[in-house]
Amino acid sequence: MKKKYLNTSGIQPVRQLFAGVISRSDGVTPDSECSLIEQYRRLILELNQSIDKLDRVISINTYITNSLEKTEVLERILQQTRDLLNCERSSMLLVDKDDSLLKFAVLSREEEAGMLKGTGLRKGEGIAGSVWANGTPLIVSDPAADPRFSNKADVRSNVVTNSIIAVPLSVDDEIIGVIEGINKRNGQFDAFDLRIMQYISTQSAIAIKNAELYNMAIRDGMTRLYIHKYFRERLSEEFERCRRFNRGLSLVMADIDFFKKFNDDYGHQAGDAVICAVADCIRTTCRAADIPCRYGGEEFAVILPETGASDAAAFAERLRQRIEAMPVVFSEESFKVTVSVGVASYPESNPADVIEMIDLADKALYESKGAGRNRVTSS
Ligand code: GH3
Ligand code: MG
Ligand code: MG
Repeated sequence: MKKKYLNTSGIQPVRQLFAGVISRSDGVTPDSECSLIEQYRRLILELNQSIDKLDRVISINTYITNSLEKTEVLERILQQTRDLLNCERSSMLLVDKDDSLLKFAVLSREEEAGMLKGTGLRKGEGIAGSVWANGTPLIVSDPAADPRFSNKADVRSNVVTNSIIAVPLSVDDEIIGVIEGINKRNGQFDAFDLRIMQYISTQSAIAIKNAELYNMAIRDGMTRLYIHKYFRERLSEEFERCRRFNRGLSLVMADIDFFKKFNDDYGHQAGDAVICAVADCIRTTCRAADIPCRYGGEEFAVILPETGASDAAAFAERLRQRIEAMPVVFSEESFKVTVSVGVASYPESNPADVIEMIDLADKALYESKGAGRNRVTSS
């Protein structure tokens, strides 16, 4: 974005303007004229710095409203907040509704993230806890002398807090977290810092809510795995990427064996419990980069980026064995289920496009069914 600065080179015409005014004023000497111009120059510099900060706030805003990935949004906000406020550290705490704690979610320094992430504050505990309780921002210039301050985070991360600015993250009157800036580098946090923080927090809270809504929209309500539409989009993206960079990509498809009979014998709710248990097993067998999806009914698909045919076959076999070994408990009864699995890989299975890749994995799955079920077939 193009920066708009006030032009300090225009100081000369201003000097002439001032000279005109000054010459008509009683008791104004050339010395006071210089001091006025000096003040004017300082004012312009300060204004330029403020405009620069506002430019950066706007660029954060553009970024926030364009991103739907929550972690990415939070990390970016925090990094920019720290730079904008010229402070040593910044952190974002988010309300965990399950245990009613305000927990450190993202920290600007990696080493502190390891020590503090997940640490919780009760409502009213510490400066952040007070902001959560009262919904009002706080600037604390001498934390050690403030009765609201808690040194819990300092002790855990082995740092000393000298100044804090903290603002609530709220959406529709609900406080969902707190953003903090810690230890201003030159001087103290001021009203301008507070205005910047409030502006960022308003936009951030909305962006976080949007990211959460998006996350809900791409997941299946029953299993929390990704929905079919998201599966198709991601597979197309990953397929394009692997072709462009000549990398491996695999697709694993699984279908529960004899599931119609299971539903008939034990009822639809027991069937749902089985689907959820299989989904949980798929999720816990995946690595962070893998994309586990509910393809439909009792069929699942897992996209394995950067994975060749032999690693994908090993993943599929591990998954098959885990599901076979897993008891599913429903209404105090324990059930056993198995799945049949098909694997297709790029480049090994040589799919021409995404449609063919799905087709190859599907055919391999039905080979597993035809060969007696509870097995893995690679195309
Ligand atoms: P196969 O071993 O050949 O796969 O036999 P199958 O009986 O499992 O056959 P199929 O895969 O065609 O069965 C799909 C059944 O899954 C039909 C449908 O009633 C059931 N189903 C689909 N979605 C759900 C669901 O959300 N909950 C429950 N309980 N059942 C579902
Ligand atoms: Mg099926
Ligand atoms: Mg089935």
